[in-house]
Amino acid sequence: MKKIAYGREILEWNASKGLVHFQTKNQLLNDFNRLSQSLSLLSRDNELDGKILVIKDVHHFMDDPHVMSILKEIAINIYNGLETIILLVSPILKIPTELEQYITIVEIDYMAEDAISNLIKAFIKENNFDEISDELLNELTIAFKGLTEYEIVTTLSLAYAKEGNLKRRDLTLIYEQKYQMVKKSGILEMIPFNESFNEIGGLENLKEWVSNKAKVFKDLNKAKDFGVDIPKGVLVVGMPGCGKSLNAKATANLFGIPLLRLDMGKLLGKYVGESEANMRKAIKLAEAISPCVLWVDEIEKAFAGIGNSGNAEVATRLFGNFLTWMQEKTSPTFVVATANDVSNLPPELMRKGRFDEIFYVDLPDPLERQKIFEIHLMKRRQTDLPAIDCNELSKRTEGFSGADIEGVVKESIEIAFISGESQVKTQDIIKSIENTASLSVLFKDKLKVLADVYKNNHFKSASKK
Ligand code: ATP
Repeated sequence: MKKIAYGREILEWNASKGLVHFQTKNQLLNDFNRLSQSLSLLSRDNELDGKILVIKDVHHFMDDPHVMSILKEIAINIYNGLETIILLVSPILKIPTELEQYITIVEIDYMAEDAISNLIKAFIKENNFDEISDELLNELTIAFKGLTEYEIVTTLSLAYAKEGNLKRRDLTLIYEQKYQMVKKSGILEMIPFNESFNEIGGLENLKEWVSNKAKVFKDLNKAKDFGVDIPKGVLVVGMPGCGKSLNAKATANLFGIPLLRLDMGKLLGKYVGESEANMRKAIKLAEAISPCVLWVDEIEKAFAGIGNSGNAEVATRLFGNFLTWMQEKTSPTFVVATANDVSNLPPELMRKGRFDEIFYVDLPDPLERQKIFEIHLMKRRQTDLPAIDCNELSKRTEGFSGADIEGVVKESIEIAFISGESQVKTQDIIKSIENTASLSVLFKDKLKVLADVYKNNHFKSASKK
């Protein structure tokens, strides 16, 4: 801050003390601790000329019409020759329409890897910690990515207070910090998972493809040196309840990295540029946490406005930002986007170069249904499984989704329990099947439309067919 001031006096306004000297924090106006009062005084008496004013946490005051009108007046005066700079400091981007044209946005980036590494080394030296191996230094550096300098130093101090040294187990402290950070962001969510590909019946093509990408991801530097591109991600479209979300979780599990879910609905804000800023924030945060899987669930919902009136413009811009990022991204952030209905998705999203591949998940075929029955029975009634005829169950469940099959298994187990039976038999499950209206019955027309869209787009089938 001092560097950019070039000797000019710096004033600061903060909510606890009002107007203070930036460096000494000495109060300058005792009675005027409301922002609007301080601002009107400063602008009336031409007090700002030749000075810099830093307003802290300004987002709290962006709804105050008085503050807005004085800021606008100052901006116009600056345009007409007033020599001052107003720095609006805020953790979130919130720009009212009337100020939009007068403001330049400067985003503070997360710390770079070498800066983090130097910070750790300096901390070790200052506190006379034992030297750590290059490998641990590297692991800590990557784990600290996305945290602020303050958070990094606090975590290091915590590790020091605990054991007087830095150990590999301190990584858990860092992951806890990151979990908090994602939680606080309100845009991304860290999803716990323990699902594996063994729990997905069928979708063999998709599983094989993801497993290959996992090999690249796990040895990224070597793969890059060999000339392999960093995997960007996959778009999985298809029938509801057929394992798309399950696949996102199993992917993160296989890659051995955190799973972040981006809630597109939460991105949309009411201020000018807020939605785009939220998108940038989400992307930056995901990149900072990377390597990670970024799961963009029901991507079609976010872009529903495109082509319609209402917030179509915002949706188009959001979409543009997302596409550019997908196209240019070099960070190890693997995107798994899922969608049920692609008929409203803009064709640009489907173009090669955005996603590495687009898979279409259909309703399970007979063999897949049999496998899904086995998986869900294995989970709950392992001892009954050998006597259950899953082949017969599969024959009776044409048009059922994976979620339908799971529902049938759960229901038959519950009924068997309530009736006091000691085991679940094929016949019990058949009864539940007969009582279930499958997905293909409930959404017959809709499914036909979707199937045509997938066929016409020539998406790759997630199943081996
Ligand atoms: P939606 O689009 O409605 O979110 P989805 O395709 O993401 O649906 P999932 O959430 O993955 O569906 O599936 C719902 C549940 O159905 C899963 O938790 C899982 O238990 C079961 N299921 C679906 N497909 C399969 C499958 N292929 N193998 C095993 N279980 C499955």
